[in-house]
Amino acid sequence: MSTTLCPPGAAPVAVARTRPVLTVRLDAVAHNTRLLAASARRLMAVVKADGFGLGAVDVARTALDNGAQALGVATLAEAVELRLAGVGAPLLSWLDAPGADMSDAVLHGVDVAVPSAAHLDAAAWAARRLDRVVDVHLFLDCGTARDGCPPELWPALCAAARQAERAGTVRVVGIMGHLACAAGLDAEANAAATRRFVRGVEHAHAAGLRPVLRHLGATAAVLGLPGTAFDLSRVGAGLVGIDTTGRHPVLRGAAHVTAPVVQVRDVGAGIGVGYDHTYRTSAPTRLALLPLGYADGLPVSASGRAEVLVHGRRRPLAGRVSMDQVVVDVGDLPVQPGDVVTVIGTDGPAPTLTDWAGWAGTLPHELLTGLGRRLVRRVVPAPPTPPPTVPEEHP
Ligand SMILES: *Cc1c(COP(=O)(O)O)cnc(C)c1O
Repeated sequence: MSTTLCPPGAAPVAVARTRPVLTVRLDAVAHNTRLLAASARRLMAVVKADGFGLGAVDVARTALDNGAQALGVATLAEAVELRLAGVGAPLLSWLDAPGADMSDAVLHGVDVAVPSAAHLDAAAWAARRLDRVVDVHLFLDCGTARDGCPPELWPALCAAARQAERAGTVRVVGIMGHLACAAGLDAEANAAATRRFVRGVEHAHAAGLRPVLRHLGATAAVLGLPGTAFDLSRVGAGLVGIDTTGRHPVLRGAAHVTAPVVQVRDVGAGIGVGYDHTYRTSAPTRLALLPLGYADGLPVSASGRAEVLVHGRRRPLAGRVSMDQVVVDVGDLPVQPGDVVTVIGTDGPAPTLTDWAGWAGTLPHELLTGLGRRLVRRVVPAPPTPPPTVPEEHP
């Protein structure tokens, strides 16, 4: 299989010399999973948005092989995709509309988050229709004012969930929250959110519920807020090497993008480059053309700041990122068509996803999930792992 021929950090030379290549490093995902699993009671690998753009099934399998016990996704459609690919682990979906077909959850054994009475009713209705029980995680908004149940509606939701349990359609296996300010380590906001979560769990108990999985934190919490671990941590960004706290260089980047030089030209000083001549050469130089642009996921907003690695040196992009192409001012480097340029690297002097995010004024998450379908995808497999030593069953 071609994937096994691919050494870490690089794509096979023949392809890389002619096409932009996204190398997905499952070896890095494996490393990151083991590292994060060591700091969590249990790890739920969050593989929403196609595993942050790197392939949900590949990232899920790699994470499960390396210490994750469960999977999380945003939508039932994503959950069903994993099930149809044969992934059998405990799986939670948390962002479905109450009108979504909850029978998918019942039929495929997917837990659903319940942030409202309408969601509870939808899940219970599907379970009753199929004469099954659906496992749910009541989702309390702990301070995002985004997803989850507003605290003032929580008592009623707990009571309704208990009633549904008694009716035999629903089983409350978890209580979840989500931290708004974990990455910035805003101590006050995180303490308030944690208190709100603990009170929510207490309330659920008082209502007669016995959830065994309490989960609040994501990547940033695992890396920086040990007090928020509870029973399970839902980790996405960290698996693919994004350190949301910016302080843990131990995580390894899992996406590597190269592009071939398709054309070079030598120009004099004062030459305008690209649309609107937003760049002008200041001295005689060589310009190298790369066949990837914003349609492939390079942000236009990084124009004027971004750099790539050419012949081992950082060189600036010249002019605006176009839909299909960018120009690099390579100076006096003897660059030739067919040379391979590292656009996003995972180690050494290559620009990282985080560098690009800084240049573009965005998050590495956005860039990663936006890497386009036009890139040739190569997968570096994870090294084989021994079976986990402490297999734990999701109740
Ligand atoms: C995306 C998401 C996560 C994962 O967060 P990361 O910061 O990527 O680890 C966890 N929980 C919920 C509810 C999410 O939406």
